[in-house]
This record gives sequence, structure tokens and C-alpha cells, in this order.
Amino acid sequence: MTPTRVEIVPARRRGVTGYVNVGRGWRLGNPFVVGDPLNAADCVTAYRLMLSLSPDVQAEARKLLDREWPDGVIRLGCPCNGVEKGQPCHATVIKEYLEAEIARRG
Ligand SMILES: [Zn+2]
Repeated sequence: MTPTRVEIVPARRRGVTGYVNVGRGWRLGNPFVVGDPLNAADCVTAYRLMLSLSPDVQAEARKLLDREWPDGVIRLGCPCNGVEKGQPCHATVIKEYLEAEIARRG
């Protein structure tokens, strides 16, 4: 089904399935690591800037729009602590990008 919404779910948790893992190690993972000098919010800001400047990362994200998703919901699985705490993380940035693309495509 053509995706109409995007959700973020905790990755690698028992019973949570049907998501694409946006953790580290591939193009949609966040290369920025929390620790001096970057805090969690800085890493989200840095990822947002990277996504906005990188056609390759944008293209990888847009590939998700062409997959078949049950219920039309793209599920981004992120293994970071932010998801567990309900705080924004780089998956939030991907979600916002995809939602804008969905709206643009109508
Ligand atoms: Zn995350």
C-alpha cells in the first residue's frame, strides 16, 4: 500500500516488527555520535543539516516511499535512547522529510 504516514518505533525490541532499521551502519543511520562536544540535540541538528545537503541520503530515504507498507504506514525503527524516552532523534528528521514528500506527492 502507498504510504500515507510515518511512525517511529523502538528497534530491536521483542515483539516490535515490520519496520526498517535506521540505526547506524548504512546511509540513513546517524553518523554523529553523542559525546563531547555533541549532545543528543546537537546530533539531531547535525543530521538535519546533513540530510538537507545530501542528495544521496535524501534518495535513500525516498526509496522507503516506493516500498509496500502494511496499512500504508512507514515504520522507522531506531535503536537509540531518544525513542525510548519519546525525545526527538535523527529518525524524527527522516520522518519529517518523508511526511513532506508524501504531502508533496499528494
Ligand atoms: Zn533514534
